[in-house]
Amino acid sequence: MKAISVFGATGSIGESTYDLLMRQGGAEVYRTVALTGGKNIARLAEMARALRAEVAVIADPAGLEDLRAALAGSDCEAAAGPQALVEAGARDATWVMSAIVGAAGLAPGFAALKQGATLALANKESLVTAGALLLEQAKASGARILPVDSEHSAIFQALVGEDIAAVERIILTASGGALRDWPMERLAKAKLADALQHPNWVMGQRITVDSASMFNKALEVIEAKEYFGVTPDQVEVIIHPESIIHSMVGYRDGAIMAHLGTPDMRHAIGYALNWPERENLPVKRLDLAELGRLTFRAPDDARYPALRLAREVMAAGGRSGAVFNAAKEIALDHFIAGWIGFLDMGALVEEVLTRMAGANDFGLPPSCLADVQDMDQRARAVAGDIAVKMSGR
Ligand code: NDP
Repeated sequence: MKAISVFGATGSIGESTYDLLMRQGGAEVYRTVALTGGKNIARLAEMARALRAEVAVIADPAGLEDLRAALAGSDCEAAAGPQALVEAGARDATWVMSAIVGAAGLAPGFAALKQGATLALANKESLVTAGALLLEQAKASGARILPVDSEHSAIFQALVGEDIAAVERIILTASGGALRDWPMERLAKAKLADALQHPNWVMGQRITVDSASMFNKALEVIEAKEYFGVTPDQVEVIIHPESIIHSMVGYRDGAIMAHLGTPDMRHAIGYALNWPERENLPVKRLDLAELGRLTFRAPDDARYPALRLAREVMAAGGRSGAVFNAAKEIALDHFIAGWIGFLDMGALVEEVLTRMAGANDFGLPPSCLADVQDMDQRARAVAGDIAVKMSGR
């Protein structure tokens, strides 16, 4: 029996993972070691019962008693808090889905790699903040990281049987998000509800806003550089409004390999779950004749400062990825709360990067997770101060 864990089970990626696990036989086929959630106790308990999980962990420590009550009568243990998440990662699952949103996903995923599990990585923040550490840990424990971001899964699949040395460029596709066709002068006025109208993908709230600002793509550019070991200038971004081509790899002979599919995360999750096999997935099949055509356009740097900032972060290296991500998370919190405007997010992140660049460890590679977490906390404090000033609160 394959022993699995799902971190962030109650989220958008977590629900799609659960859907596939249930369709592929559920508790009859999988031994579920751990399922985790942030706040949604009722849903976590429901999943834990259906998959007969050994432990269910809720991130919010205040939720422990309610989780215990929700699991009463089952054999599933209840736990809560960040340390319990890390302990759950250290349990003996052989396949672990890392789908917590934000930097909070780093430590549990790291613990899973440490104990040798295959890490299906949706949490792109892990590679952005601690890419080298993660890859080193995977190597040291003989563990594997499988990408779950649809773009990186597409690239991974387009690389099968190929030599990475023959790769000339990686082309990440981007839908452009909810506001891609808004005139620039309206963007400053965009509200949360506007940014959530994603044209193609149904995702969690945070990544949907990040798609509109292209901070999501900015994280993915760094993620691609880290995961595939290419240089920053080998990673390109192209706007592809239909989201049918999930990404491409260009080889030195001029050939381009693309991965196509409907915008459904179960493509990438299913590939990582069944790898190296392919199983029948419940995704809508593409009808190319019905689609008719696919379109592309270059991203506009003035509209999407996040992409420029990602290039600066890659050039700076060291702990700058942790600063970038932390500042982005704080900016996003403040935008979601309605305290700062849509364009303020880019300005805030840029300001944090500028201020933190003066720190003597900014460009220094982290030697352990604690270094990353320390930089993350300091960047959050700086970002919080700037955000308060920006919002005039
Ligand atoms: P969601 O917001 O839908 O779900 C996030 C999950 O993490 C939920 O289970 C949530 O719990 C839990 N969670 C939230 N905060 C914490 C915390 N501090 N500690 C522990 N758990 C927490 O996010 P998505 O599923 O959209 O995204 C998850 C990850 O996958 C992100 O890194 C995202 O960038 C990446 N990703 C997502 C894609 C998508 O299509 N959604 C595509 C590609 C990558 P609860 O809901 O119970 O509060």
